[in-house]
Amino acid sequence: MSTQYIYSFNEGNKNMAAKLGGKGANLAEMTQLGLPVPAGFTITTDACIRYLNKDQQLWDSLKEDIKHHIQLVEQDLGKEFASVSNPLLFSVRSGAAISMPGMMDTVLNLGLNDETVKGLALSTNNERFALDSYRRFIQMFGDVVKGVSSDKFEKALETVKKEANATEDSELHINHLNTLIDEYKKIYENEVGCPFPTDPFDQLFQTVESIFKSWNNERARIYRNLHDIPHDLGTAVNVQSMVYGNMGDTSGTGVAFTRNPATGENDLYGEYLINAQGEDVVAGVRTPKDIHGLKEQMPDLYDEFKHIATKLETHYKNMQDIEFTIENGRLFILQTRNGKRTAQAAINIAVDMYDEKLISKEEALMLVDPHTLIQLLHPTFDEKVLENVPVLAKGLAASPGAVSGKIYFHSEDSVVASESGEKVIIVRQVTSPEDLAGMVAAEGILTAQGGMTSHAAVVSRGMGKCCVAGASQLLIDDELKTMRIGNRTFYEGDVISLDGSTGCVYEGALPCVEPTFTGKFKQFMDWVDEVRTLGVRANADTPKDTAAALNFGADGVGLCRTEHMFFNDERITAVREMILAHSLEERETALAKLLPFQEEDFYGMFLELDDLPITIRLLDPPLHEFLPHTEEETMQLAKHLGKSTDEVRDRMITLHEVNPMLGHRGCRLAVTYPEIYRMQTRAIIQAAIRAQAKGIDVKPEIMIPLVMDVKELKYVKDHVIAEAEMVLSEQNKEVEYHVGAMIEVPRAALLSNEIAEESDFFSFGTNDLSQMTFGFSRDDAGKFLAEYEEKGIIERSPFGAIDEHGVGELLQMSINRARSTKADLKCGICGEDGGDPASIAFFDKIGYTYVSCSPFRIPVARLAAAQSAVTNKNHN
Ligand code: PEP
Ligand code: MG
Repeated sequence: MSTQYIYSFNEGNKNMAAKLGGKGANLAEMTQLGLPVPAGFTITTDACIRYLNKDQQLWDSLKEDIKHHIQLVEQDLGKEFASVSNPLLFSVRSGAAISMPGMMDTVLNLGLNDETVKGLALSTNNERFALDSYRRFIQMFGDVVKGVSSDKFEKALETVKKEANATEDSELHINHLNTLIDEYKKIYENEVGCPFPTDPFDQLFQTVESIFKSWNNERARIYRNLHDIPHDLGTAVNVQSMVYGNMGDTSGTGVAFTRNPATGENDLYGEYLINAQGEDVVAGVRTPKDIHGLKEQMPDLYDEFKHIATKLETHYKNMQDIEFTIENGRLFILQTRNGKRTAQAAINIAVDMYDEKLISKEEALMLVDPHTLIQLLHPTFDEKVLENVPVLAKGLAASPGAVSGKIYFHSEDSVVASESGEKVIIVRQVTSPEDLAGMVAAEGILTAQGGMTSHAAVVSRGMGKCCVAGASQLLIDDELKTMRIGNRTFYEGDVISLDGSTGCVYEGALPCVEPTFTGKFKQFMDWVDEVRTLGVRANADTPKDTAAALNFGADGVGLCRTEHMFFNDERITAVREMILAHSLEERETALAKLLPFQEEDFYGMFLELDDLPITIRLLDPPLHEFLPHTEEETMQLAKHLGKSTDEVRDRMITLHEVNPMLGHRGCRLAVTYPEIYRMQTRAIIQAAIRAQAKGIDVKPEIMIPLVMDVKELKYVKDHVIAEAEMVLSEQNKEVEYHVGAMIEVPRAALLSNEIAEESDFFSFGTNDLSQMTFGFSRDDAGKFLAEYEEKGIIERSPFGAIDEHGVGELLQMSINRARSTKADLKCGICGEDGGDPASIAFFDKIGYTYVSCSPFRIPVARLAAAQSAVTNKNHN
């Protein structure tokens, strides 16, 4: 059977968005519901794809088909396209499956020329209206289809208005409009190089072609890249008979939401204009009136519209954004779609619609986009203010929040400034563990390099701090302590603002709005927890982060990165002493200094967690990360340890690795220096005994990172267990603890059935696993990934969202193999994608027990898990 490329509105339905686009599917659905939709048809996305990939011009049979569908509309309405007596005119709009700004705008009044305009004047008995429609059409066609700047037409309009002594467009008379039409045609011919097309069919075919082409224009491609929309979907084209809102005082046009999109309040929200066409409302040339004004002006129409709005909302089970036109006292619905809304409104609408018995609890859960919940947890910049502030630079929206502060370029300077009461934004090329103190002191973090899983991004999200990463326009001079953006130079202490939810950087301070939680938020999140089956834990390294995570509803801690506890003045010195030790004895002395700090941290976290579990990962990074970077620091350290600078330098040279991420790190460190993991185990068990004495049912899970083989795990685990048992027998106590492996090396994922023999649990570190499976450095891949996405080689970065096709396959296989050894082995995810809604759905589907993510993503992950449960239930 040959492909059907065109559907009349009365053939389709709302489930056909992939073919008809969102707009087309809804027009069809509304037609089926018997609503007053002007007749028309939709040319499918398949036609667009064929046009772009194969023909690159409209093929004959498609043109014939378009003509056939025009005839159907003609029969329906008793008007004729291209007729000089009673002409049928069309609006033509693009409409992809996923709502997507950036493609071609609408063309209205298509079909007018010097002859048909006379017919329109006759049939409407309104010559002024006909001429006004014609001049608008020439402008729109020129601008939208041929790219002629609107300014040129606007200038001509202004000149004619001046000559006519008119302030409003509506004051122009017939002769002025005729002059304007001539002017517009001249502008068109000058700019395009050929006369304005007079044949309505030609006008239509050219418009359809340019809509198809606009799928690939730059704005559209950028938008799709930003929102992970595939590039091969194509757009549909909706061809709809015109109705007129500009036929006098009994006509008008408007846009309304069925509920308030900012607050969720259950009341129509929108605006309208009498005697106007759609673009007048959007263009802001005339100030529209509040929709409630229509109640006084046209009470019957208002009631009819309200009735239809309710019908649409009930039908779609979602708040609707509706466009309408009134032509000579008759209401037409031009478009409906699910209305965009703030997170606050989304929650309120979901709960209200459940209370109003319009939707079930499950449906309510599906009405809120998990990503948007983050908006409710952080302060944001005042949107009204942002409208008038230029963006200075743009990077990745690495960790949400909004902050204004003074810039500092070094960790130490940030600490000093923060101690003296400044609000600090630390600016670095990239951050490393060395910068942690500065990051803790700062309110916001800005880097010129690095992606969504760079150190800056991961640590900021963990701390719930605003971060813009990889703002590549920044030229940072560390020595001079300056940052250049274009031809502007910013110095230490200058004030800037960061928006971690958009990646935008602004100059100066901006006012913030603090988050407020309403009762409905809690109510909604209670439903989330009722429904989800996937656990959601937090990546947290301090009691403070743990408390924040629990406040956001975490089921425990899924990853405590113990090395984060090593970076502060007192500790780092002991760590360095341990690294520079010459003998086991010296090393143990240094480790003994670290023990009380670690124990205190774990104790603090146990107290916060109460009876909830915690997975504590033993030391992971290569040792060189803890050593000083500057000559001055090296000298200071040598002095402090009573060693020569040369000796310290030599040790640094010995520790240097060409590829440290694949070097002496993770459990490999413990194979060489088991005493490090022994000290950490002792700290965990001693803290657990103390917490247990306070009545807490402690549940430590000791995790060994970067395992690649069961024998390696067994060697390290034996040390861990020996130390744990030693502490317990010293104190004559019992603590239930578990020892498990972190699966983040492809070999371990493959051999998970063997490794499971020696593991009480698994946690999959998908950051390293993705890095090693792709062979892409997670710290450097940002440099080329954008190009990969742009060239369609990969759809999106594999860091922060799981690559289901490759890494996902490995996870699926690994979990199956592990559970062939231990059927109920607890398997978690603790990479960054543990906080990504689409990845969460995938992890849930393939059988993971829990995901773990940074505290501020906990509500997002909980909702994503609940939505996954609803989806899975609906599919089973
Ligand atoms: C991982 O590799 O996924 C992980 C959680 O560990 P890290 O990010 O600390 O390497
Ligand atoms: Mg890792």
